[in-house]
Amino acid sequence: MPLSPFLAALSRLLFPPFCPVCRERLGGGIAAALLCPRCQSSVACLRPPLCRLCGMELAGEGAGGRLCGECLVCPPPFLMARSLLRYEGAVALLVRRLKYHSDTSVLPAMAALVANADLGAFADCDAIVPVPLHLSRYRRRGLNQAALLAALFFPQRQQDICCDHLRRVRDTPPQTTLGGRQRRGNLAGAFAVTEARRLSGCICVVDDVYTTGATARACATTLLDHGVAAVKILTLARVAAPGRGRLR
Ligand SMILES: [Zn+2]
Ligand SMILES: [Zn+2]
Repeated sequence: MPLSPFLAALSRLLFPPFCPVCRERLGGGIAAALLCPRCQSSVACLRPPLCRLCGMELAGEGAGGRLCGECLVCPPPFLMARSLLRYEGAVALLVRRLKYHSDTSVLPAMAALVANADLGAFADCDAIVPVPLHLSRYRRRGLNQAALLAALFFPQRQQDICCDHLRRVRDTPPQTTLGGRQRRGNLAGAFAVTEARRLSGCICVVDDVYTTGATARACATTLLDHGVAAVKILTLARVAAPGRGRLR
């Protein structure tokens, strides 16, 4: 039964909501799931023009359709990658809290950030595949942040989210410690598919952060080698300057 307005006001007085990023007390009219104004102001979308394939911000003006230098030299195996937000400010803190501290109290704030995202480019995907964690890492963390994000991105398509097809078969060293070329080598052979569960058609691979694209490329290659026709990548956030990225 919903609380009466009086009880709701009393509850806010006794248990005032906090910003999940900086723990600052929120004003009376702001729901607990939202960020404080200062943290909210640090949230930014990627600024077009974007690389047609990998979604990287490109310098200068101009219409879409252009490619970044890396996609020109080494086209990715996926059709496209898109990220909803820049990996900076409150977004980076929310991701780190979920990923490294298994703090699921940040999920309502993340849900609010992605609630109005235009995911029309992924409507034709037949299945949604979160990037898997190696079993040992999953056991340590107790959650897979990519799977939680997939559920936030596609609340109406829970039945299409497939967590048991793509597997991480090698517990690779943290990508944070490696450069771009090493990251790709690090992930060679890191993924495999479970043959008992066949996927086909176009697959949307979901992850938390896109940095160099090494993880996205490795997942896409594995899926394409096993009967999938096309792969699109969707991440919550993207590092604007990959060289300075702290995540994969
Ligand atoms: Zn805050
Ligand atoms: Zn690109």
